[in-house]
Formats: sequence, C-alpha cells, structure tokens
Amino acid sequence: MLKRISSPKDLPEHEIQNILRPSLLGVLLLSILLGGFAYFTLPNGEERTRVLFVCSLGVGYSIFLLFRFRYYTYQHPVFRIIFLLFHAGLSILSLDWVPQPLLTFPATAILLAVTMTSILMGRGAAYTYLGIVLLGLVGLHLAKGTVASTLPGVVAISVLAMITVEFIGSMFGIHFNRIRRLQIINEFARRINSTIEQEQVLAILGEAIRNAIQIDTCFVAVAVDEEHLFVLLIYDDGQYFPPCEVEMEGTLSGWVIRNQRSLFIADLRQDVNLTGGKTFLTGNNRDNVCWMGVPMKIGEREGVLAVASYTAGMFDRTDLELLENLAQHTALALHNANHHAEVEFKAQLDSLTNVYNHASIIRILERELEKAHAAGKPLSLIMLDIDYFKQYNDTYGHQTGDEVLVQLAQTIKRNIKSTDAVGRWGGEEFAIILPNASGAQALQVAMRLQIALRNLFLHPPEAKTLPFPTISQGIAEFPSEATKGEKLIQLADRRLYIAKARGRNQVEPEQAYWEEQSADS
Ligand code: GH3
Ligand code: MG
Ligand code: MG
Repeated sequence: MLKRISSPKDLPEHEIQNILRPSLLGVLLLSILLGGFAYFTLPNGEERTRVLFVCSLGVGYSIFLLFRFRYYTYQHPVFRIIFLLFHAGLSILSLDWVPQPLLTFPATAILLAVTMTSILMGRGAAYTYLGIVLLGLVGLHLAKGTVASTLPGVVAISVLAMITVEFIGSMFGIHFNRIRRLQIINEFARRINSTIEQEQVLAILGEAIRNAIQIDTCFVAVAVDEEHLFVLLIYDDGQYFPPCEVEMEGTLSGWVIRNQRSLFIADLRQDVNLTGGKTFLTGNNRDNVCWMGVPMKIGEREGVLAVASYTAGMFDRTDLELLENLAQHTALALHNANHHAEVEFKAQLDSLTNVYNHASIIRILERELEKAHAAGKPLSLIMLDIDYFKQYNDTYGHQTGDEVLVQLAQTIKRNIKSTDAVGRWGGEEFAIILPNASGAQALQVAMRLQIALRNLFLHPPEAKTLPFPTISQGIAEFPSEATKGEKLIQLADRRLYIAKARGRNQVEPEQAYWEEQSADS
C-alpha cells in the first residue's frame, strides 16, 4: 500500500530539496549581494566587518543546506529546536548589525527563512521563529532606545511573513488534499478492479465514499425503464438498506440521468432552479439538504451515483470531482460484474433449450435435497423422455426434432413454479425438480404436461402442421422413497422405463400408488 502523504514531512527527500532550493538560493544570493554592497559602500571599519561576517555566515549556511542538507535530521525534536534558534539568532544578528540603507537584504532573507521553516516544520514552527526574531529585535532596540524608529519596519515584515506562512499552509493543504484524493482513487481502482461480484463492488464503493467524503447518504441507481430507477446500493445515516425500485420522475437522480450531467446542490432548501427538483426518500426517510450526483454508464444502462448530507454546504467541487472519478471506476466494475454473472448464468444452461444443463441440474438437486432435509419437507423428481423420438427425427428431420426439444422445454417451464427447476438430462430426456411437492402433487404436474403437449403442434415453414410427440414420465419422492439424490434419480429413471414398457405416453407410478402410499403413512 502507498504511504499516506498528509504534510511535507511525508514527502521524499528529493521533493523537499526541490521545494527548498529556490529559498536557499535566494538566501545565498542575498548574502552575496549584501556582502558586495557592504564591501563597496561602507567605510572600512567595525560595522563593515560585522556585516561581512553575517554575510559569510549566510553564504556558508545556505551552501551547507544546499549540498549537505538531509531532511531527516530536522525530524528530531532537538535538532528542530537547534535549527530554529540558529535561524532566529542569525536573523536577529543580521537585522541588528546591517545598517539602515542595506536592511532590505536581511528583511527579505527573513521572509525566505519563514517560508522554509513553514515548509519544513509547519505553521507552528514558523510562527515560533518569527516570534523569537521579533521579541529579540524589540528587546535589543528597547535596550538601545531605538525602538520607535525600528518598530514600523518590524511590523511590516511581520505582517508579510504571516501572510506568507498562511499562504504556504493553504497551498500545501490544497496540494495534500489532492494527493490524498488521488491515493483514494488509486486504492479504490485497485480494489474494485480485483472483484467481479456486484455486491462486493458496491461494498467497496460504499466504504471508499464514506472514507473520502463526509456523507450521510449514498446511493447507486440504474434506470430500469423511462420511469423507474432501481436502487442497487442505499446507505443512509449509518446503515445499509435493501435494494428497491423508485419512481424517476421529478427526482434529482432522474435529472442527472436525463441530462447526463453532474449535479451539485450545496443547499436544497434554497431555490433549486431545476425542472424536477425533488428528492426521493430512501433509507431513513430524512430529508437531505446538500446533494451531489454524477451520471454513470453501466454498459448500455444509464445510472447515477449520488451522495447527500443532512447539513448544508458539506461538499465542495473537489468532492464532486472525486465522486465523478469513483463513478467511472464503479461503472466499469459493475459492467464487468454483470457480464461475469451473465456468462456464469449462461454456462449453467443447455445451449439448445435454455434450461439447466446436466451438471447444473444435479447441483441444484443436491442443494434442494439439503434444503428439503433441513426443512423436513418432501421433494419430488420427474424424469421425462420423449417417445419414439428417433423415429420422429427420421420422419420429420433433425431440425424439427430440435424444435420439439425447444418447445418441450418451454412448455415444462410454463407448467412449473418459479421455485421448481428443469434441466436437460441428456438427448431427449429432461429432469424436473419439485421442491416441497409430494409424489401425488408431482403426478398432477406430469399429467398437466401431458395435456399441454397434446394441444401442441409444430408449424415448420413451407410444411404442413406436424403433431407433437408424446412423453413418458417417472416420478420418485424424497424422503419417503429415497433419501439420497442418486437413489432418487435411479428410482425415477426405473419408473420412466416402466412407463415406456407399459406402452409410452404414461406416468409411473399412477394415482393409486400415491393414494396407497399416503394411506400407509
Ligand atoms: P423411446 O420411446 O424408447 O425413448 O424411443 P426413442 O427413439 O425416443 O429412444 P432412443 O434412445 O432410441 O432415441 C433417442 C433419440 O433422440 C436419438 C436421437 O436421434 C434423438 N436425439 C437426441 N438428442 C437430440 C437432439 O439434440 N436433437 C434431435 N433432433 N434429436 C435428438
Ligand atoms: Mg425417447
Ligand atoms: Mg432417451
């Protein structure tokens, strides 16, 4: 994971050098210039010697920092204090020793020192440095009785220095905020791209948004049609809520989707000049007053990612920018998740008839048997086979045979409940799982199918209407007849062949058997 950067202290050494270099070069240049001016303009004497001494200190110190400086030394509190005091001492000395006409040089150097101190050690240290320098100067001039003449200059420098410190502080604030947001986006992209489950994608999104922006509400919705939105993710006031469908008309989300533009409203209580400016209530049904939504395109579907707060003015433009970035990554991840789910679902189906394939129907049977066992409920299995299908194929052609298989699968699906399952067992044989159904109830389903097929005809192009073949079916009931999936299949299969042997177009066992069964139990 990337190192979190929240202040200049966290920057790598070379970046700090780059930030400091202009100020250090400035101090060096000022020291050289001051030395030159002093040398040529001041009379040879004690004053000139003192100024030249201060200049050499300035040159030496800035060169030392330019070439030998290692930032980590500054991290140690003792060194920080030493450096602070050294800077302050040098500044007081230069302001005190340099004569009036050349004072601009040390004054400018002090501004640079404030700049460097606030970069390296932050605002507090910069103000400490400034305070020491001011107190030192005022003290010195009080002692000399010259405070009245120096005070205006000192005050002017202090004001300028304070503005510099505040400016640097806010610039760094903006800068680090941007870096932090980029890190959030990077981290988010890395996490969200490593998952293909929709639920996981939404969970990662919810977490990232809550970490990055101070929100009360967050939701992701997609348009299901012209009038409705399906809300996939709802987080409100500390908890997640189940997905739901809502009306799109008149909502801010609807506006975002229709206009394909981001929307940011700092205070909803003020006049919102939008066509359709009402919020739909989700989650805790508490009205949000600060709202932000961005459009999202999940494959072909239009969606929206929105956040809101109960407090006005909670978000700013950078939050909107961040939200737009998160939405882009989320849209792609959701599209991938949908695609993956679709591929997974299709892999379970038989390509011709679109019902479950052999492997899936066995898996479903095992799962349903476990559920039935746990709930103490029965489950029935029907094995179904088309009668004389080889002959049918030979007579009407393989293509017509395929059409029969498709129609038969559809007819079965139409005649069973959504909790039941049908699969192609192989060739022209199907298995139907009926959870919570007794053998007698399965017989009803089987007979309903027989009747449905009797009324079915094929209408091949350029051929006369063809009759539909008949089917034979075998039923077995869990747990009364078999407690294991394998045994249940074997029994249903055996009965299917009994039905065939009895002359086809039959169901085995017949009504009397189930009546006897229920009388026995
Ligand atoms: P029975 O009543 O004893 O079941 O006779 P049957 O002819 O249906 O049984 P058999 O097992 O001899 O033949 C099954 C036939 O099902 C053979 C094959 O031509 C046909 N069949 C299997 N799969 C397909 C398919 O995918 N498409 C088509 N058109 N026919 C298929
Ligand atoms: Mg057959
Ligand atoms: Mg067969």
